[in-house]
Amino acid sequence: MEGTLTARDKVGVQDFVLLDAHTSESAFMDNLRKRFSENLIYTYIGTLLVSVNPYQELGIYTMRQMELYQGVNFFELPPHVYAIADNAYRMMCSELNNHFILISGESGAGKTEASKKILQYFAVTCPMTESLQIARDRLLLSNPVLEAFGNARTPRNDNSSRFGKYMDIQFDFQGVPVGGHIISYLIEKSRVVHQNQGERNFHIFYQLLAGSEADHLAYLGLERDPQLYKYLSQDHCAKESSVNDKNDWKTVSDAFSVIDFTEADLQNLFGIIASVLHLGNIRFQEDDQGCATIPDTHEIKWIAKVVCPLTLELSVYARDAMAKAVYGRTFTWLVNKINSSLVNKDFTQKTVIGLLDIYGFEVFDKNGFEQFCINYCNEKLQQLLIERTLKAEQAEYETEGIEWEPIQYFNNKIICDLVEERHKGIISILDEECIRPGPATDLSFLEKLEEKVGKHAHFQTRKLAGPKGQKRIGWMEFRLFHYAGEVTYCTKGFLEKNNDLLYRHLKEALCGCQNSILRECFLAAELENHRRPPTVGTQFKNSLSSLLEILISKEPSYIRCIKPNDRKEPSEFDDFLVRHQIKYLGLMEHLRVRRAGFAYQRKYEHFLQRYKSLCPDTWPHWPGPPGEGVERLIKYIGYKPEEYKLGKFINGFINRHQPLSPNNEEFL
Ligand code: ATP
Ligand code: MG
Repeated sequence: MEGTLTARDKVGVQDFVLLDAHTSESAFMDNLRKRFSENLIYTYIGTLLVSVNPYQELGIYTMRQMELYQGVNFFELPPHVYAIADNAYRMMCSELNNHFILISGESGAGKTEASKKILQYFAVTCPMTESLQIARDRLLLSNPVLEAFGNARTPRNDNSSRFGKYMDIQFDFQGVPVGGHIISYLIEKSRVVHQNQGERNFHIFYQLLAGSEADHLAYLGLERDPQLYKYLSQDHCAKESSVNDKNDWKTVSDAFSVIDFTEADLQNLFGIIASVLHLGNIRFQEDDQGCATIPDTHEIKWIAKVVCPLTLELSVYARDAMAKAVYGRTFTWLVNKINSSLVNKDFTQKTVIGLLDIYGFEVFDKNGFEQFCINYCNEKLQQLLIERTLKAEQAEYETEGIEWEPIQYFNNKIICDLVEERHKGIISILDEECIRPGPATDLSFLEKLEEKVGKHAHFQTRKLAGPKGQKRIGWMEFRLFHYAGEVTYCTKGFLEKNNDLLYRHLKEALCGCQNSILRECFLAAELENHRRPPTVGTQFKNSLSSLLEILISKEPSYIRCIKPNDRKEPSEFDDFLVRHQIKYLGLMEHLRVRRAGFAYQRKYEHFLQRYKSLCPDTWPHWPGPPGEGVERLIKYIGYKPEEYKLGKFINGFINRHQPLSPNNEEFL
């Protein structure tokens, strides 16, 4: 076991809290590296799980492992994602409250894999009735479908999530999973029409071409070779072995049949996917009057099957805008459709465990509007973590009158404000440029930024360049100093992407088309509504603020994922890269708070209710104030005075990091 000294030397400690009192970042790194080299990818900081992507199958997700972790005391077994899942589940069942598990980390760090492992754990270990098996299967199978339409290969990750996902798993009062609900965030539509070097379009395009029957392809007017399609042929990199489009097509097709999709739905859905590919192949030519014409109408025939006649006035811009709009709204339709198959009306009293798997912090060579939104989202989630752990916990000690040495940490609220503050933040400035009369351009937007937030400590442009030696900033760029590091954004495309407008005549065509999915996505009412829809930035800001509201009302668990190297290699631990992640994930601060604070905190009432049977004085009923009952109970169990503190009002704090004796192990 890991308890003996020699074992500890070899594999490190399984909870960073057990390291020496003044743990340095180097000691933290040493422990993580040691464990990684022994294929121990999980380590705790108290109840937070740190996970390092092993980039190899480790055989630690077997049925046997799942059984092992079921209902077992958190600290008795080596750290595992199953322990986090099980702990949230047990708490939900005993306290009948809602939970969420926030999984964060940069692209390729293992967030989506972790969320899938958790879902599988619930699917296998929770009690189940025959009639609810279908609900469970649908929950599981929603994953491959959404990944096919929402994930793509990037330089960072062959299966990168290009949308944010929050999924509630709903349980009945006996802990049986009965249904679910998914909210998706900002799918990266621009990928449909353009991919950078080494990237691909969304998986579904390649899967359809590689896996679909020949007559199905012929019906859609498609050929098997992706290189024939402009929207798919921008990828010049070698084929990656980790993506098998043909097999994945089979998985996705099977999943569709379980998730309540009819033949007609599928026909319409793939009609849309095909029409996007045809759309991309439309070429334009300029005629004598400088207007665009379409010399070859071959492709139009296939699109018209779906969207009705297109006019000749289309430009490349309109074509791409249409492809993006069609794909983006179809994705939303898909999520809604999956949701309606996950609804279970028979259960009104439900508790939930929410899983948040959202795009990680991104820094590319060129960063655009998408990276700006993704990184802003990460700032907001970091805020949540700060509010819920670092700040809330310290405030709680103060309120409850517990002696406490405050821990310093960087509060990124200042950056969130810079981005989102009403009338003053970057999103507002962008919106103003989008709606103001007169010619607004990406450059005029940049100038507005300089004028309005130029003095902000976390903002920089070329004109306002800082000390020498920093990476150069281009003339169309601005730089933000995020909590996770600096990112330089190119403003090119900001206005257009934020506006996200579709020409009226294209909308009209889409509203009137035969395809029933598109008719649902493009309602005629939209044409009559002359009010400007909220911009993409503002919509995203609003959806993030509702997400935070959802999360704030629930009990949190955290998984922090770390990427060990940039080359997707097993057994390679890049010190520089890992150290950077430890820093921006705030792991040292978290450890300091954990170490100085108490491992557990419970409300007196909950604690008493749960453990009163352990002491004859409190069983079956404690007549006095709950706090006094807890004190009696704790003394009876044999806690030493330094192991706990009782707050002035409603909370008790326990300072044990190791399991107690077997008769009350249930507590920890
Ligand atoms: P993004 O933000 O780009 O969506 P992510 O954090 O969701 O990234 P994943 O897709 O979960 O990253 O992981 C990337 C790849 O790393 C996986 O496809 C898989 O090959 C590998 N991987 C991640 N976690 C594990 C694990 N626990 N065991 C084995 N391999 C893993
Ligand atoms: Mg992912």
